Amino acid sequence: MTYNREYFEQLDQQDPLAPFRDQFALNAGEIYLDGNSLGARPKKAAQRAVQVMEQEWGKDLIRSWNTHNWFELPYRIGDKIASLIGADKGEVVCTDATGINLYKAVATALKLAPKRKVVLMEGSNFPTNNYMIQGLVAQLGDGYEVRFAEDHEFAEKIDEDVAVVCLTQVHYKTGRLLDMQAITEQAQHKGCLVVWDLCHSAGALPVDLNAANADLAVGCTYKYLNGGPGSQAFIFVARRHQNKVNQPLSGWWGHSAPFNFERDYQPGEGISQMLTGTQGILGLAVTEVGIDVMCAADMQQIRAKSQALTRYFIELVEERCGQFDFTLVSPREDELRGSQVAFSHAQGYPIMQALIDAGVVGDFRAPDILRFGFAPLYNSYCDIWDAVERFHDIMLTERWKQPRFNQRHAVT
Ligand SMILES: *Cc1c(COP(=O)(O)O)cnc(C)c1O
Repeated sequence: MTYNREYFEQLDQQDPLAPFRDQFALNAGEIYLDGNSLGARPKKAAQRAVQVMEQEWGKDLIRSWNTHNWFELPYRIGDKIASLIGADKGEVVCTDATGINLYKAVATALKLAPKRKVVLMEGSNFPTNNYMIQGLVAQLGDGYEVRFAEDHEFAEKIDEDVAVVCLTQVHYKTGRLLDMQAITEQAQHKGCLVVWDLCHSAGALPVDLNAANADLAVGCTYKYLNGGPGSQAFIFVARRHQNKVNQPLSGWWGHSAPFNFERDYQPGEGISQMLTGTQGILGLAVTEVGIDVMCAADMQQIRAKSQALTRYFIELVEERCGQFDFTLVSPREDELRGSQVAFSHAQGYPIMQALIDAGVVGDFRAPDILRFGFAPLYNSYCDIWDAVERFHDIMLTERWKQPRFNQRHAVT
């Protein structure tokens, strides 16, 4: 079918999520399609940061741990995140980076499956996941190892040596969505635990960890949860696994009585032992603002709009830029795709730079992928139409061939 801008204007008028856009600070004239890398800033995050700076840190200083409940923040935010990912209160804390939480989660899972020593991972996953677990098995020694498989091979690669299957639900490059429930069931049936990485699913689609009987999970808050650059990540440990083993980064914040300053480590109850050291309060306070915005939205509406945005984007790019040799890398079926779309093109890098220059902000992932993320809380249907207009123009005029678009930046 051939669309026009009026068609997308009408979709915006009918969109129940449209009012959320006004809660975000967006640049006029810019179409931000990189919320899967760094979510946009909720307007209120700035006020919250100033409040912590001037009052809580500036005036109340050390008292704020109690009077402003700084001490509670990792739990309070964790409980809010829990409500977004199908977990219960007391199963999630917001702390540390995703990679560090993954280390703690996989180490914990390995201790829960003591007779086995293999961690099965997806080689093409976001590399830090592989690096962290390679570091973990090197530390453990004694026959522990990482094995890699790609998605169509998971089932056959799970044998009686595999202790932990560690997977990212939505692939960071392709946007492919895995069936959490089916894979968890399969792996558990073969005696393994599963650690899920929700970096590209939390806030992007409905996740139901407990319905899937998930074991452990981690994820970040600076992508679809709009927590801010490098904001604290989260870790989930199913209630049935809590209080059984100790995670290795046993710091004083995870101690059962941190202010007794005892010589020896005693793990705290429940999820609390997943904390390690003093928490970054500035980051947590700002993160909570993004989580609160997300908690006010309906996740089914988010998913429906995300599927529509990505579907229209694929259709329009293929219709209007199809002759320029782009290959769709993301799944075409709505139900197999997260909230992003990737196309490959041999000249992907300069084309993406030209797009960013024209106010269509996506990103490039080596070697040849143009990646576009769709955040239903602040992306409109007209964004899709306007982005593809500019995309088409760049290809038709060959503006991407300007030498300045081939200069590489440190962060792509
Ligand atoms: C974004 C992302 C990360 C980020 O990890 P950090 O520790 O925050 O740097 C990790 N894994 C996956 C799959 C991601 O998409």
